[in-house]
Amino acid sequence: ITLDKKQGGIYMKINEIFENKDLVFSFEIFPPKTTSSVKTIYNTLEELKDLKPDFISVTYGAGGSLVNNRTIELSSLVKEKYGVEAVAHLTCINSTKKEIDYILDNLKSKGIENVLALRGDIPEGQTLRGDFKYAYELISHIKERGYFNIAAACYPEGYVRGRDLKEDLMHLKLKEESGASHFISQLFFDNNYFYNFLEEKDKLNIKSSIEAGIMPVTNKAQIERITSLCSATLPEKFVKIVNKYEHEKEALRDAGIAYAVEQIVDLVSSGVQGIHLYTMNNPYVARKITESIDSIRNSINKKRVV
Ligand code: FAD
Repeated sequence: ITLDKKQGGIYMKINEIFENKDLVFSFEIFPPKTTSSVKTIYNTLEELKDLKPDFISVTYGAGGSLVNNRTIELSSLVKEKYGVEAVAHLTCINSTKKEIDYILDNLKSKGIENVLALRGDIPEGQTLRGDFKYAYELISHIKERGYFNIAAACYPEGYVRGRDLKEDLMHLKLKEESGASHFISQLFFDNNYFYNFLEEKDKLNIKSSIEAGIMPVTNKAQIERITSLCSATLPEKFVKIVNKYEHEKEALRDAGIAYAVEQIVDLVSSGVQGIHLYTMNNPYVARKITESIDSIRNSINKKRVV
């Protein structure tokens, strides 16, 4: 079956895409919060599909509520209606093994073969009721069940800023040994952290493919959210842009797009294996960025004889 899919140019598992492309380019989207925004997500997906991403990943609601979780539904839509390979995110920190199995069974029944296995953030002040403490435990569990291709998260600046990267890398190695064959990175704004991370993971002989997570920062609220939620270093030239255009909506958007494109061109020219664009469900921004790197993407991938 795999051979047929390859001949048709459709790859079902992310590791197969990496085997056949020198540069993988993918998007992340999140499920809309209310049913009223379902129409918007259709329009978003219609536009994202035209940009020919290698896959689209769909985030999983924090807290891992089974009732409200729309990740399965949206992943299935990405794959069935829009014909783009889907990766379903799945967090485990607050779920029992039974609940995780229920979700995996559901994903399998819908033909979703790729899962991004995550621990999830520990909810403040809540007693955890899950059977899994770390992502690697979820990864082993999924691996044991078979069927799925497993991706996981990595952190170029370390999970906690200032902490020794080596500790994180040991845990990354554990995720690989447990069955992850692909890593997607946390967002970063200074490529040097990513290059340093790649060098360090090579020393531990971590072989899985790694995609650089790029978030185009195009509005002020997003910047505030990023700085409160994640420890990515903001380089001087990034801060300069934000300060200069924080009250100019369109100028900030365009400067944010240009910054992301510059980051991507540098990463791709340095030979990274993949770019995962955090689209924030914004097809305009995704389109501007994708079109800017179109010829670069083609030039890298045409060198490969499949
Ligand atoms: P882990 O790999 O388990 O690591 C968490 C921490 O535990 C790290 O400090 C690690 O070093 C440490 N650790 C790991 N193993 C061990 C061990 N054996 N002993 C001691 N310490 C250990 N969150 C969502 O809720 N939904 C999403 O859809 C989502 N998507 C994401 C996508 C990407 C690409 C990324 C980078 C993050 C995403 N997150 C999402 C956030 C993620 O859930 C959090 O960052 C979470 O706090 C950590 O998840 P993890 O899978 O990296 O955890």
